[in-house]
Amino acid sequence: MSRGRNMLKLLNSMIRFRGMRFMRYINWWHLGKTSLLVGFLFFFCEVLIYYLVLLQCTWPQIQTNTKHSTVKAMLLADVHLLGPRFGHWFDKLRREWQMYRTFQTAMTLHNPQVVFILGDIFDEGHQCNEVQFNNYVKRFHSVFSVPENTKLHVVIGNHDIGFHYGISPQLKDRFERSFNTSSVELLTINNNIFVLVNSMALHGDNCFLCKPAEDKLKDISEMLRCAKNGGAGNNCKKYKSLPPYSPPIFLQHFPLYRPSDSHCKEPDSAPSQIINEPFREFWDCLARGSSNKVLDYLEPRAVFTGHTHHGCFTIHREHIPEWTLPSFSWRNKNDPSFVLAVFAPDAFLVSKCYMPKESTVIHLYMIGGFIILMWIYFSRNRYFKGTFYKEK
Ligand SMILES: [Zn+2]
Repeated sequence: MSRGRNMLKLLNSMIRFRGMRFMRYINWWHLGKTSLLVGFLFFFCEVLIYYLVLLQCTWPQIQTNTKHSTVKAMLLADVHLLGPRFGHWFDKLRREWQMYRTFQTAMTLHNPQVVFILGDIFDEGHQCNEVQFNNYVKRFHSVFSVPENTKLHVVIGNHDIGFHYGISPQLKDRFERSFNTSSVELLTINNNIFVLVNSMALHGDNCFLCKPAEDKLKDISEMLRCAKNGGAGNNCKKYKSLPPYSPPIFLQHFPLYRPSDSHCKEPDSAPSQIINEPFREFWDCLARGSSNKVLDYLEPRAVFTGHTHHGCFTIHREHIPEWTLPSFSWRNKNDPSFVLAVFAPDAFLVSKCYMPKESTVIHLYMIGGFIILMWIYFSRNRYFKGTFYKEK
């Protein structure tokens, strides 16, 4: 037993001696330079590129008579944070870092007053238990943390609580509780009116989800009518205070009804293989009847939606623009983007901000890696100060 231990000690000291001898001949200066090159490539692809790309976006400059009532809003959709069941850990790490880096860089460079996330913030929000859901919420807040002067509002998506027939009161309540939201939300920010709606509550079948949502929409519609008429009208006395009227901005997860994406001509529209596929009402977009109802109730001046994972611009009733935003995640889109919009009661402008492409980052790693390998190959003799083999 003790002889074995002695042998082990001897072997250890021999290895240590040989190792130290080997290390004496390494050219640390040259090795340091190579490590710096590798470190710079990593830093460029994982941090710097986000600043360089996002610096190219700017807030649109609007012409308004109500300069003090502007609001700078950042809008994005379909984050799809991976859940506990699907997705490889590396996929999770890579795509969450991309979203974290983009979002935090946008906070630093553009500093919006309000951020709207248009649904599907989770990939498996409707399929996980309480413990998993609570972890999910924590992860969301660490990726999408906002500074104190920025407000964050979340619209409910089908991956958060399920499609209409799969939604239970428990799934709906836990999401609404965690994000302090509800099926229909009215927000007034600097005299600009925003209406946020849970698309799955617009089936119009009087279920536990749809009935209260439609009642609230009707009430908002009436309140807006009163505000527009300066408080004059039969039922207007019930509103203690009315906001200064301007047509609302409507935000929801599903696009309003459209037959397909075939008219979409944005650079990030759906690929040609699927762009002409017909949309199924209630699954790919809102039903035609529900869309008309919402447009009648709210008469919005702009609509922002998500869900399809591809960009699209649509005009409804010849004057209501709708922007469908692509997914914010590399998992669903090679070239994700988000919107920077400035709203005033009498004007608004929207600009799209493209994020680094996943393919660009992969190519940079390949080209950078190849250059570094060539540098190592051609300067291989400089890694050692002389050859310690000769000293044997
Ligand atoms: Zn969706």
